[in-house]
Amino acid sequence: MSNRTPLIAGNWKNNIDHLHAIALVQKLAWTLRDADHDFDDVEVAVFPPFTDLRSVQSLVAADRLPITYGAQDLSVHDSGAYTGEISGAFIAKLDARYALVGHSERRQYHHETDEVVAQKTIAARRNGLVPVICVGETADDLEAQGPAAVPVAQLTAVLETIAADLDGVEPDAAPLVVAYEPVWAIGSGQAASPEQAQQVIARLRAAVADSLTPTLGEAQAQAWAASVRVLYGGSVAVDNVAGFLAQPDIDGALVGGASLDATKFAQIAQFRKHVRTN
Ligand code: PEP
Repeated sequence: MSNRTPLIAGNWKNNIDHLHAIALVQKLAWTLRDADHDFDDVEVAVFPPFTDLRSVQSLVAADRLPITYGAQDLSVHDSGAYTGEISGAFIAKLDARYALVGHSERRQYHHETDEVVAQKTIAARRNGLVPVICVGETADDLEAQGPAAVPVAQLTAVLETIAADLDGVEPDAAPLVVAYEPVWAIGSGQAASPEQAQQVIARLRAAVADSLTPTLGEAQAQAWAASVRVLYGGSVAVDNVAGFLAQPDIDGALVGGASLDATKFAQIAQFRKHVRTN
């Protein structure tokens, strides 16, 4: 049993305006409270659009909700003439804990390279945000190279770039989160099997150690590998989440579509109560 606290994270993407965000977070909080959810046991986070973050912050602060939140992206720049960009400093000012970096939709539609994802990871950490580094293979990658090669290469590229920044830092003080999201599973209704996801995620955890060892030495690199939470994402639903979380290296879920429904998302967060059905 690892001592990593599971994280159930909801990526709203370009859905839900700030008024509906308040209603959704309120309903999520009430539903979880009624279910006696233990937030120290399973963390619950939402990733709303930028324009919702201030409303979510106000609600969370006013009602002292134990729900955490983050942004779906951030700029590599903290300020300056970069029209349309959103600074990590501004996101952090809204008491956000996290920022997603390198979501496959950013890589696909905005041509974000591993180098950009690495710079965004650095920008998040510079501003005290925990980066959730998203990696995953497309259906073509899967066919040509198998499931692990591309996500391992994506994660290695980021970690080799940021390794020097981790030197001497306690993993608990400035954590990293990784999300393994096979692109073919996102929004398709066809999730990976828990065993497939476990295999890739075990490789990703090994890649954390391998890519940090040259800079940090083996002991520090192993400590990072043991502490990094690695989530699975891609068509996670109420009836399959428990199977993923039963795997030894899977520390949570990044949930897209099902996170837009407070009842479903709360049930996903309550995965410990589920009987495994797959
Ligand atoms: C996502 O895009 O991060 C995601 C996992 O989406 P879905 O759960 O809808 O597949």
